[in-house]
Amino acid sequence: MRRALTLTAALVGAALLTASCASPGKPVDLATVTTVDRPQPAGVEVNPPTTSGAATQVPPCDPAASLRPGPQPPAGSMPQGSTMRAIQDRGRLIAGVDQNTFLFGFRNPTSNALEGFDIDRVRDVAAAIFGDPNRVQYKVITSAERIDALKRNEVDIVVRTMTATCARWVDINFSAIYYVAGQRLVVDRSSPITGIDQLGGKRVCAAKGSTSLNKLRESPAPPEAVAVDNWSDCLLMLQQGQVAAVSTDDTILAGMVAQDPNIKLVGPKFTEEPYGIGIPKQNEDMVRFVNGVLEKSVTGGSWTASYNRWLAKAGEQAAPPVAKYRD
Ligand code: GLU
Repeated sequence: MRRALTLTAALVGAALLTASCASPGKPVDLATVTTVDRPQPAGVEVNPPTTSGAATQVPPCDPAASLRPGPQPPAGSMPQGSTMRAIQDRGRLIAGVDQNTFLFGFRNPTSNALEGFDIDRVRDVAAAIFGDPNRVQYKVITSAERIDALKRNEVDIVVRTMTATCARWVDINFSAIYYVAGQRLVVDRSSPITGIDQLGGKRVCAAKGSTSLNKLRESPAPPEAVAVDNWSDCLLMLQQGQVAAVSTDDTILAGMVAQDPNIKLVGPKFTEEPYGIGIPKQNEDMVRFVNGVLEKSVTGGSWTASYNRWLAKAGEQAAPPVAKYRD
């Protein structure tokens, strides 16, 4: 052992001596420097073509007016033949949600559970069907996947910061409105930008399939729209300096600001985004049932409890919207 150590020390000594005596030689040519694209989230598209069904005629409507609830069946006793009975017999509600939007639908990294204001609405519906808020199979979907998931009956409901619009009413049903958001901007804390009109030609991020992306396109000074799959991709691109701003609902932006003290919410709301729960077009009984659940969430205090838990700090709207029905 001792001999081995001595030998190692001698070898290291010799190597050091060689290194210090070697001539510096000619500098090696540096590798040619080329510019490379910065890494960015998967699926980024700049100024993608519009997919909002602009070609099809959208009948005028009041997007906030839903179907009036009837008498609510008690939990565990859904009427034979109803959509709710099929869900009860299956043993779980299937809900399309987000897992990337802090405050509304996000995965709590400590508990690994999905949480947020939208998730609370899903739990209310499950509790009304089963008497148990946990009887839910969550399917995480992007903004762009919401309508198709409902049209293909892959989910019973979508509760995902989803604005009720007349264009969307053509394909799906909406519940009564459970929150009213509005589109604004988030920029770097050091940015001088204070409004959408100052973003002409600049890169602004929004999710594919969102009303936010369409609104950017309609702006009188259109920015270069950077379209991504998830709102968290927009936050990342803003943090990396790859976009000048993120523009979407103040609710989603409030969740970003709560996560990063280096960004700020700016400018007035320039749209109104009434959130409804999306339901497949043929399931009108489910629309009426869900509206009964929403009414109960308001009168029973569940709406206020989740508002206080998630939104009171950031939001302005302390009261639930008044339900409107087209009967
Ligand atoms: N509320 C808007 C919408 O439904 C934007 C939010 C989102 O896409 O998640 O399109």
